[in-house]
Amino acid sequence: MQGNAIELRGITKRFGKVVANDRVDLTIRYGEILAILGENGSGKTTLMNMISGIYFPDEGEILVDGEPVSIRSPRDAFPLGIGMIHQHFKLVDVLTAAENIVLGLPGSTRLDIAKVATKVQKLTEKYGFELDPFKKIYEMSVSEKQTVEIVKMLYRGAKILILDEPTAVLTPQETVKLFSVLRNMRAAGNAIVIITHKLNEVLELSDRVSVLRRGRYIGTVDTAGASIASLTEMMVGKRVELNIDRELPVNPVRRLSVNDISCVNADGIITLNHVSFDAEGGEILGIAGVAGSGQRDLLEAIAGLQPVESGEIDFFPPQGDKQDLTKLSAVEISKLGVKLSFVPEDRLGMGLVGPMDMVDNMMIRSYRKGGMFWVDKRTPKTLAEHIISELEVSTPGVSTPVGKLSGGNVQKVLVGREIASSPTVLMVAYPVRGLDINSSYTIYRLLNEQKKKGVAVLCVGEDLDVLLALCDRILVMCGGRVTGIVDARTTTKETVGMLMMRDGRDEEP
Ligand code: ADP
Repeated sequence: MQGNAIELRGITKRFGKVVANDRVDLTIRYGEILAILGENGSGKTTLMNMISGIYFPDEGEILVDGEPVSIRSPRDAFPLGIGMIHQHFKLVDVLTAAENIVLGLPGSTRLDIAKVATKVQKLTEKYGFELDPFKKIYEMSVSEKQTVEIVKMLYRGAKILILDEPTAVLTPQETVKLFSVLRNMRAAGNAIVIITHKLNEVLELSDRVSVLRRGRYIGTVDTAGASIASLTEMMVGKRVELNIDRELPVNPVRRLSVNDISCVNADGIITLNHVSFDAEGGEILGIAGVAGSGQRDLLEAIAGLQPVESGEIDFFPPQGDKQDLTKLSAVEISKLGVKLSFVPEDRLGMGLVGPMDMVDNMMIRSYRKGGMFWVDKRTPKTLAEHIISELEVSTPGVSTPVGKLSGGNVQKVLVGREIASSPTVLMVAYPVRGLDINSSYTIYRLLNEQKKKGVAVLCVGEDLDVLLALCDRILVMCGGRVTGIVDARTTTKETVGMLMMRDGRDEEP
């Protein structure tokens, strides 16, 4: 197939006062991979949701194959050959891949599942997917589930496929496989759209890039003529230095020693399986893994927020004897200088109180530290003001309730406050999720400053490129186990990716 698959003309979409898309024009062609690039909140998902029938535009026109169309629900999108793969999959766990693929199709209950499986196999062979049609969803990895979603769309005849941040949940190796499948789909004449904020992916995969900034369409360029710097400038609107300084650790000293700890959650599932490692003051220890591999549980166990079944966690303070944290409460651990800044899932749950303003939120931490209530509001106010200016928090002022701020700004308040509490061990999870590029680099700079001060920084991250550039060592987890600890300066993405997939059941750790 040739020519334009979709043309968007002057598309505007508002949510209350927010203009998510402001007169956006866009062309999607058959036989190409188009990347939609933009910072968080720039309107990428909203725009694509209008093509797939989730939202209806307030203004503007959508043409499919040159004809104006009205797409009022996903049901309208299917016959037009449009299929969207969302970040959260909508599959039925107890059914097989093949059953899920036909679910909801007219007469699907009467379909001969063996015939369906044969058709599925033809599709997977054609494009190079690996998929067992008879496997149940609950037995599948995230990557396999994503494959089911894609095949489901192809089975329904999709020739315009939109993928929303498809690699966010994949290992580097799985990403390579996905990209190869997408290239095969392009070669077969389909139109592929990939929503992303990862510049490396754009450069590696796409033919053209369309950039959105704050809901506005900035422009489209050929990927061949683009660079990380040129695309960042389009995204952000100005030149940005994308360097993370990394110095060698100076006089690293052991601060934390985790010895063979195991944890079991309320459902009886093992979340941490014989985990051991040391963290040193003066270094940034990255923690990598596919989402849900135990990264969060590990930080929670250290912070005293998850009971430890067996093993021991020792803290070596700058002065005094080693402390056994295993038996201490979360508040006692925090008082010792082991600080946890958890983001983003429960940003507001982890010690920030939504209805309270910034000043009061600063005091919660101060209160815990000093052990007495702080009546003098000046110091926390100064701290709040400092965080606002240093991290460019966008808020009407220090007395605005924290719960009214956007996710990225809440993030900044939380990380800023934890750092201001002069930790000895600073643990952060996904510290830049939801932040724009500039703020992300501010956070990296702050973490590096902490490292230079001799703080032991533990950082759970999801962007391997960033972990490789920021950290000194990287601890890799899979299935609640530590599958390796590597030198971030010398390792490769592939090595870390291999460790992310090694569940330890069939290999020696
Ligand atoms: P992106 O995909 O680029 O991260 P989105 O399309 O998700 O951006 O969001 C664009 C803007 O629209 C953001 O300010 C977001 O908060 C807002 N927005 C998106 N969906 C909704 C919604 N359902 N209700 C209210 N605001 C929304």
